[in-house]
Amino acid sequence: MPLYNDKVKQKAGQHGVNKNVLVTGGAGYIGSHACKALALAGYEPTTFDNLVYGHRSAVRWGPLIVGDILDAQALESALRTVKPIAVMHFAAYAYVGESVDNPGKYYRNNVVGTLNLIEAMRDYSVSQLIFSSTCATYGVPDFVPIAESHPQNPVNPYGASKLMIERMLTDFDAAHGLRSISLRYFNAAGADPDGEAGESHDPETHLIPLVLDAAAGPRDHITVFGDDYGTPDGTCVRDYIHVSDLAEAHVLALRALEDGAKTTAYNLGNGRGFSVGEVIAAARSVTGREINVLQGSRRAGDPPMLVGDATRIRRELGWEPRFSGINDMVSSAWRWHTRDHASALQPTSLSER
Ligand code: UDP
Repeated sequence: MPLYNDKVKQKAGQHGVNKNVLVTGGAGYIGSHACKALALAGYEPTTFDNLVYGHRSAVRWGPLIVGDILDAQALESALRTVKPIAVMHFAAYAYVGESVDNPGKYYRNNVVGTLNLIEAMRDYSVSQLIFSSTCATYGVPDFVPIAESHPQNPVNPYGASKLMIERMLTDFDAAHGLRSISLRYFNAAGADPDGEAGESHDPETHLIPLVLDAAAGPRDHITVFGDDYGTPDGTCVRDYIHVSDLAEAHVLALRALEDGAKTTAYNLGNGRGFSVGEVIAAARSVTGREINVLQGSRRAGDPPMLVGDATRIRRELGWEPRFSGINDMVSSAWRWHTRDHASALQPTSLSER
């Protein structure tokens, strides 16, 4: 029986149409879900990842090239080999706290690495890019829900590095015709509903996996960072968006570029916020487990409320989230969290160039 990926290849290659997409960071949380969405849509994703934070076992929907975006020659060689019609660019460091302590690491990897990528794309005439941006480019919001027109004043080097990249992309379009769509994510959450991909960060700093660790046992409690905010229950409110809905938006953005869309940026959120307290309540209900909560102090740099207005991407690209409830996100994450590691991590098709 042909492997899943072979079937995709047969389908995509039927009419000799190039459907290759280079996915930097395809071994990471969001990148791996995007590879699955691409494969299901008939594209052929090739992952380019240095495997520092990504996992070899997460690369299941196409080949893996082990390489670093700081290595311009490795990028050029990947573009020469894959000849992609487009690049999806997820490779980045994304720990806000670390970016404050070690800004050079973020500006070098995220900004210089992306500059290497887009210069290589310019030189090899690859003119379509989907970029993984963030609501952290807005900083502390003046109003919620945050629309794309909200001023961008990032409050940490991570957000600043992503904003610099958005700016570079605008300039590269003007000068070289490299068209791009930047997707500004709110809080990615959940896992592939089929259990084929999920979130595995080391170190883990995100709320939902930490709460599930507290439910499953490796941790004995979750610390809530502040309960004295001006929000309904005093804890911070975030706009959680299911990672499969995020992945789907990338495919829609790619199709838009193929149809000639101009360089732009879209928010990706559900337009609805959930507090830390509500997330913990959802986790108790989904897991049926007791979850010990410790009340901690506020975490530096946490805005009280971040909620995104994603009206534009709904209207212009027809994006429609399928899993907008917090229970959907927590339950898919819980299935991934409690999976049988041996079988879940077995690649269905993995070739390495
Ligand atoms: N949070 C928390 N305890 C934790 C981790 C996170 O109370 O151990 C809170 C955090 O202050 C924020 C929300 O959960 O209000 C989401 O945090 P996360 O790190 O998941 O995402 P962020 O919004 O920082 O990108």
